Amino acid sequence: MQPASDDRTQDRPLRIGLGTDLHRLEEGRPLRVGGVEIPSPWGAVGHSDGDAALHALADAILGALAEGDIGELFPDTDRENAGLDSRRIVEAAVARAGARGYGVANADLVVELESPRLLAQRAAIREQIGGLLGITIDRVGFQAKTGEGIGEIGEGRAIRAQAVVLLERVRPES
Ligand code: MG
Repeated sequence: MQPASDDRTQDRPLRIGLGTDLHRLEEGRPLRVGGVEIPSPWGAVGHSDGDAALHALADAILGALAEGDIGELFPDTDRENAGLDSRRIVEAAVARAGARGYGVANADLVVELESPRLLAQRAAIREQIGGLLGITIDRVGFQAKTGEGIGEIGEGRAIRAQAVVLLERVRPES
């Protein structure tokens, strides 16, 4: 039973969003994860810089706002977006949240990559993401997983990222 005060037309102070992304890996390309350059013999194929973690993160923010996805914000048919620094994509999503009166409460990311291991860059990635979201790193979760040698991740053919974000209302909608 709903409480008597429940009003489903009323906006809520919290909104949750989920984002996921996958990029094919190819030798000789740069590898960027969470805005951090990773020393690697292979990197992600993509119209932008191919940063799957930041793409998942931006989609999670847009998902929380129910405002579509980054493909609509930054179409890959647009030549201006070629080689785009994905930090700009996250900044655009954060700005949209801000315009709606929301800030990021916390974010949690999982990146699946067979190799190289991301442990050495974990702190730098959390720092970078915290900076983009305007939150301290104790509110940025980051886990790196392998694909156990099987499937597109395990065979080193792709990198996959997932992100969940919680938005909280910081001021009334403008
Ligand atoms: Mg992508």
